[in-house]
Amino acid sequence: MTDRQGYRVELAPTLEQRARLAQHAGLSGRAVSSDAPSCGIDVGVKTSATIVDDDGTVPELHAPKPLKAALRKLRKAGKAVSRKHLGSSNRAKAVRRLAEVHLEVANQRADFLHKTTTMLARSKRAIAVETLNVTGMVANRSPAISDLGFGELFRRLAYKTEWYGSSVWAADRWFPSSRLCGGCGTINRELTLADRTWTCGCGLEHDRDVNAARNLLNAMNLEQEAA
Ligand SMILES: [Zn+2]
Repeated sequence: MTDRQGYRVELAPTLEQRARLAQHAGLSGRAVSSDAPSCGIDVGVKTSATIVDDDGTVPELHAPKPLKAALRKLRKAGKAVSRKHLGSSNRAKAVRRLAEVHLEVANQRADFLHKTTTMLARSKRAIAVETLNVTGMVANRSPAISDLGFGELFRRLAYKTEWYGSSVWAADRWFPSSRLCGGCGTINRELTLADRTWTCGCGLEHDRDVNAARNLLNAMNLEQEAA
């Protein structure tokens, strides 16, 4: 970016500069390769995320077995509490068990987030994510969204991309990532959370999550080309 006097104004270090900085700081080997793909991520309402790379690959990311197992235990422990009589010693025992399982789930989730964000930050050049109104989603629509800890995902991506010399970009809060047809640009206002696939008037068939991740990737690329 050049201002009117012709000075070059650097808003942020370029990828190459950051890679050099990282090398100077003794972090060589930690810088992401400059031909690594960019990607868009759609965070699922369950414990999954869909990634679309700009080379066209669509790796799906599922919660690891220990996290799934811990979530099953959590449901069981919650039911056990509600079956015990109020004030009984069995209930107190079930409540202690529930607290233990909550901790286990939290640890498994933190581990999954840590590994996922590290993998993304070191293998992708640029990562596009959605900005979710997390509080609203949790309160009104889908308690399961909290499974992936979206705010935590973004926070970790922010510092890890800085570290590895990649970048993270968040869409505008109102960006209709799921409703937008990536082919013709039409917005499907009828789409509900239950619709996993949909067909646009232009004839394109969409997998909801893949379409959303691809739209995020395209929006990031467009904005970065325009900058
Ligand atoms: Zn269309």
